[in-house]
Amino acid sequence: MLDELNLIYKQALGSLQETSTREDLESWYRQTLGRKGQVTQMTRQVGQLKPEERPMFGQRVNEIKQELQLAYDAQLDKIRTAEIESKISSDEWDVTLPGRRRWRGRLHPATQTLREIYRIWGDMGFQIYRSRDVETDEYNFELLNIPKDHPARDMWDTFHTTTPGVILRTHTSPGQIHAMREYYPEPIRVILPGMCYRYEQITARSEIQFNQVEGLAVGENISMADLKGTLSDFAKRMFGQERKIRFRANYFPFTEPSAELDVECILCGGEGCQVCKHTGWLEILGCGMVHPTVLRNGGYDPAKYSGFAFGMGPERIAMLKYGIEDIRAFWGNDLRFLEQF
Ligand SMILES: [Zn+2]
Repeated sequence: MLDELNLIYKQALGSLQETSTREDLESWYRQTLGRKGQVTQMTRQVGQLKPEERPMFGQRVNEIKQELQLAYDAQLDKIRTAEIESKISSDEWDVTLPGRRRWRGRLHPATQTLREIYRIWGDMGFQIYRSRDVETDEYNFELLNIPKDHPARDMWDTFHTTTPGVILRTHTSPGQIHAMREYYPEPIRVILPGMCYRYEQITARSEIQFNQVEGLAVGENISMADLKGTLSDFAKRMFGQERKIRFRANYFPFTEPSAELDVECILCGGEGCQVCKHTGWLEILGCGMVHPTVLRNGGYDPAKYSGFAFGMGPERIAMLKYGIEDIRAFWGNDLRFLEQF
């Protein structure tokens, strides 16, 4: 039986060297050292031996078990190393593959345009002044020279609240009164950005909510020439130094005189295209000299002080700049649109 044991040992060592995969190795282990393996079976036969032969046989079985276990561990190491090497040399594990790019968020196109506008006005010495989205009828209309029943109220379809006289602001202009009442009698250079709300049919060209940036300069000896110079400079910084600009007369209840500023079409360069309706010009903002009544309502004596104001729509500017045809894309939360900016 000792001879039989040694033969099993020799054969087991031989077949172990021939294993080349983990599956081979596991099946070798089951056949040799497993619960029903050949070596394990031999230990169970000790009882059949003569008592004096048992100790020597038992010792040899233990030696063989230990040696086979060591040989098994060494073979497992060898197979693992071979596996890694074959993965590296085959394309399965390409260490030259570039890393996956992380998906990064970015600013909303309206915010990007707003920040561009802030930056330019900031460079020109204007501060940002924030005022509230929920307004009173008094601030939104009356103090801006739009009394009740004034036909100009038709220009702003309004969201009313259940509290009489409290509305969602239809423009950022009420901020002019807030700023004047806070800063009087100091000179003022502010822009007033924020969301405005109008009770309108939502279409490709009109939304019920949109941003506006209002601007206000108040002081002594401010003239129409200052308005033209300042706004021309803004338009050139925003749309390019070589752009032509023009002012056209207009009407707003809170400025007198009032004007509109056009910039040479940024898409066709003035040649005429669909976006500029073949005029070669794009209207980008409304402006004017602050109406004496509005100055007075803000606390400034129009005999001593004067000022100019303007208002523009950042979404509209972004639409012109990027050729966006539908204003609903701004608040539609469609990533296919947003990812383009
Ligand atoms: Zn054009």
